[in-house]
Amino acid sequence: MREVVAGRLVLVDAVVPGRVVVADGRIAAIEPDDAVDGPFVAPGFIDVHVHGWGGHDATGDADALSGMARALLRHGVTSFLPTAPTLAADELPRFADRVRSWMPVAPADGAEPLGFNLEGPFIAPARKGAHDPALLRTPADLDPAIIDRVLDGLRIMTIAPELPGSLALIARLAGLGIAPSIGHSQATLEEARAGFAAGGRTTTHLFNAMSGADHRAPGLAVAALADDNAYAELIADGFHVHPALWPIITRTKPPDRLVLVSDALPLAGKGDGFTRVGGLDVEVRGGRATLRGTETLAGSTIALDSAVRNLVREGIALPRAVAAAASNPAELLGAQDRGRIEVGRVAHLVLLDEDLRVRRVLRGDVWVKPA
Ligand SMILES: [Zn+2]
Repeated sequence: MREVVAGRLVLVDAVVPGRVVVADGRIAAIEPDDAVDGPFVAPGFIDVHVHGWGGHDATGDADALSGMARALLRHGVTSFLPTAPTLAADELPRFADRVRSWMPVAPADGAEPLGFNLEGPFIAPARKGAHDPALLRTPADLDPAIIDRVLDGLRIMTIAPELPGSLALIARLAGLGIAPSIGHSQATLEEARAGFAAGGRTTTHLFNAMSGADHRAPGLAVAALADDNAYAELIADGFHVHPALWPIITRTKPPDRLVLVSDALPLAGKGDGFTRVGGLDVEVRGGRATLRGTETLAGSTIALDSAVRNLVREGIALPRAVAAAASNPAELLGAQDRGRIEVGRVAHLVLLDEDLRVRRVLRGDVWVKPA
């Protein structure tokens, strides 16, 4: 199949009018042309931290994973990592098995799975957020055989570096090419730095569920902001981190180190209501999801299309916002075959209108439209 997609191409550092020539699911040529107008054409978004979408739960069965993938693609998310919150220890390998056996049969009209992400159980009780406290573990007190059984397909794992055994596990995962994500942590500045030094590659939802930026007692947030090698996730829904902080993050982090994530709940896209996540009751009101009866945020109800739109609305340049949703997560995962509009990369393209709303999405040779 040959296809020509014309518009304002969102490259890593500029918006350039022109055409993308697609052949056999790959970008075969890029033809700049000042005469071209039309939609913004961005590389497909990559959500590395998402618990479900459209009523479908990442920890569910193959049908749930397919439903989630299809819902995400219609929001411009062409690749993703199904992400488990903290699960019971014996559930971890079962989740891994379900994702692994589903991946080869994932639908062509859904976002492409690139493995999976485990957000627990190695998180600090004091920064547990919306994770079930009864299920938390430390790397030192979990049967190592369970870890061995989740390694295949594991791409990112959240670890609080101050827990017993964490630094050794961080180093082991990093050595295997898995990205340890420092987060859900009460770490002091020194403990956080030790986590990155041991091999921590990224940071689980910067500012949320972590020791912060107190000027006398800086913690993980400061360590993550000040480390130019560390990636940092941002949930840009406007609830998790106040937009007044966003320019501080974008001025501090190198442009290739910010990673937009949705951290979306399974009921994202379903409006307000009640649900259960990881065994806990969650309430959604006005798009804001909290543990029922508390002010503890439980995840978001957005997809990365909203995150990009929100960043741009706050004055962040479109190429920078798109890089945070596409090329940066691709590089974090070592997925050099995608994430940019570049000859040879997979043709995962999102067409966005003037208001940055998704109009059409190309995944290789399949076009979809938003529902
Ligand atoms: Zn999460």
